[in-house]
Amino acid sequence: MLSRRLNSLKAYKTETTKARIRLSSNELPYDLPEDLKTLILNELKETQLNRYPDPNSEELREVIGDFFGVSSENILLGNGSDELIYYLSIAVGDFSQGVYVPVPTFPMYEISADMLGRPKVCVQLDENFDINLEKSLELIANKSVVLAYYSYPNNPTGNLFSKEKIHRIREEGVFTVVDEAYYSYSGESFKDEALKREDTVVLRTLSKIGLAGLRVGILIGKESVVSELNKLRLPFNVTSPSQIIAKVVLSSGRDFIEESVKKVTSERERVLKELKGIKGVEVFPSRANFILFRTPFNAKAVHKGLVERDVLIRDMSYLPGLDRCLRVSIGKPEENDIFLEALEKVL
Ligand code: PMP
Repeated sequence: MLSRRLNSLKAYKTETTKARIRLSSNELPYDLPEDLKTLILNELKETQLNRYPDPNSEELREVIGDFFGVSSENILLGNGSDELIYYLSIAVGDFSQGVYVPVPTFPMYEISADMLGRPKVCVQLDENFDINLEKSLELIANKSVVLAYYSYPNNPTGNLFSKEKIHRIREEGVFTVVDEAYYSYSGESFKDEALKREDTVVLRTLSKIGLAGLRVGILIGKESVVSELNKLRLPFNVTSPSQIIAKVVLSSGRDFIEESVKKVTSERERVLKELKGIKGVEVFPSRANFILFRTPFNAKAVHKGLVERDVLIRDMSYLPGLDRCLRVSIGKPEENDIFLEALEKVL
């Protein structure tokens, strides 16, 4: 018999609408070049798919360690960072103890707490989308919070929270998860702290730098923390095709990743400027590969109008404090132009 706890849960839902221009999931808009795909195919040809993958992803952890400048002992891999978020919500404290989430943010932090029936302390961000420290400290003390999640930069608002505020909350004895899914676009990190401390870990992912299809998430932490969390990891959680493809791309495709990230970052600034020029649109600065903006109209109607013009972005107006807001991922220059033109027509 299924638990009654499930009654209060909703199945995780992502955008399924079809459109030619897809700017809704913060993916890299560039697919891998032909020569990399050929290398991948050659490697896959040599792989025995009747065998289980390397359970510890040893070689991939070496390559990822090299890519992010850490040792493989400091790395735990997940089936996307979603899986790692779930592990962290299981691992830190007791289920009766609270999970702190500054909102609006990436929904998986709350979802993982809900799945486990853990109490949540969700504190609305201030008018600059930064952490409301006073309110957070008050609730954290009252609700026995032991775990905090920060999207850094924050999805969907695009900004970096104040480092000092995150440190201050940590002083209350709160295990700190800094989710740096968009690190390649911000360049800001808590990695050095995560490598030294037992109360801090960093999450990264390959999903935003060209490999969303693989589902490879990365936790960076102190060796002792990584080896404890590794006890929760499901066996064979990273498939052999994912291990092989990620190894090839991170060792032979660095130039492709670096150039793509550069193009997206410079397009971000252009799209930001162009959006600012559209009458009635309020634009929020971004350190990630997406931009949040507010229109004078109902966001659902704007979203629908764009879909009718074959452009898919994300309606964010369902989140607290984001009325009339939508989020657009940065695409190729020509895709961004189509989006901007369509938006002008819709507004
Ligand atoms: N963290 C943040 C902040 C995200 O925005 C996303 C994806 N939208 C993820 C994690 C999920 O990453 P993954 O694909 O590695 O599960």
